Amino acid sequence: METGKVELLGKDVSELEDFAVAAGQPKYRGRQLYKWIYKKETSSFYEMTDLPKEQRVFFDEIASISIPRVLKQRVSRDGTRKFAMELADKKKIETVVIPHNGEGQNRYTLCISTQVGCPIGCLFCATGQSGFQRNLAFYEIVGQVLGSKKELQKRLKKEDDDLIANIVYMGMGEPFLNYDATLKSIHIINDPKGINIGQRHITISTCGEVEGIKKLTRENLQVILAISLHAANDQLRDRLIPLNRKYPLGMLLSAVEDYIAVTNRRVTFEYVLLEGVNNSYEDARDLIRLIKPLLANINLIPYNSVSGLDFSQPETDKVWQFYNWLVQGGLNVTLREEKGADIEAACGQLVMKKSGKNKQ
Ligand code: SAH
Ligand code: SF4
Repeated sequence: METGKVELLGKDVSELEDFAVAAGQPKYRGRQLYKWIYKKETSSFYEMTDLPKEQRVFFDEIASISIPRVLKQRVSRDGTRKFAMELADKKKIETVVIPHNGEGQNRYTLCISTQVGCPIGCLFCATGQSGFQRNLAFYEIVGQVLGSKKELQKRLKKEDDDLIANIVYMGMGEPFLNYDATLKSIHIINDPKGINIGQRHITISTCGEVEGIKKLTRENLQVILAISLHAANDQLRDRLIPLNRKYPLGMLLSAVEDYIAVTNRRVTFEYVLLEGVNNSYEDARDLIRLIKPLLANINLIPYNSVSGLDFSQPETDKVWQFYNWLVQGGLNVTLREEKGADIEAACGQLVMKKSGKNKQ
């Protein structure tokens, strides 16, 4: 994002070939640049050892590769890492790296952000409560993957190209309020010649931005769509997720129904369990009535505490009670294992910390 320089991060192979030709170089230089950026996570032209020296200097004068820098990181007892990344304009975002359990142990899921902050303002979410600064550019979304992968390889002393196996768009921000950048980033992250993460390993989570769901329906992608539901009636949902006042449950579910009919893909509903707010028997009953016809999955997320907020997580037996009500009602339920809560890296705990205030 440096003024006057061409930003190469986010460009695809043919765009990099065009860039090389415009810079008076052979076309194949574009392919070399592509490999350095997306396979080797390189942000310095000087490290591109197969380019002639004078070419490295020239590229450095006219272009930049703004892979976000990991400023600080915290490591949880369970191995989850939270990276505070700095963007070119010094704004900070958080990206979370979550280790897989059991089989596939050396693989990670990366939770990425699409906005600095979030304008939706959900009542239970740290990001939503901390305000909104700006959308991320598509290359900043992609940059989180490259920057995290590079940092992870360094920390783990592993060169594995496939350390990151899954991407979830569940960090800061509402992806569908930054739709074009989100979509463009998916295409780049998915490119087999570059980062190469399969579409079925990419999940986008939305709080119910109906226009985005409608657009995604027409994209012909195989990514997983997750809908943050959290309430099965409009009265409660209006209160928890202010966007529900614009897109009430009827509108949201009809867009989801269409999405399923057109794409033939299962969706996942997320449901944060808030003690005494949305975890009664009546809530379970309404939820079953609402989503059973959709044959969807439902993922329960016990509330992660956010300082200054009045919600609390239900006791374990109450979590299981809710789980069992849904199972008995015929839903396909999973309970999300809490990861990284001791370092405020769990769902809903991400905020834009100011420089120097992060705990190591
Ligand atoms: N904006 C998108 C994606 C980011 S939030 C969305 O809302 O879907 C990722 C998930 O974390 C969402 O399901 C969100 O509702 C949930 N979440 C937010 N705050 C939380 C909290 N304090 N505890 C548990 N989950 C939370
Ligand atoms: Fe934004 Fe999602 Fe947090 Fe709601 S839950 S404020 S939509 S990041």
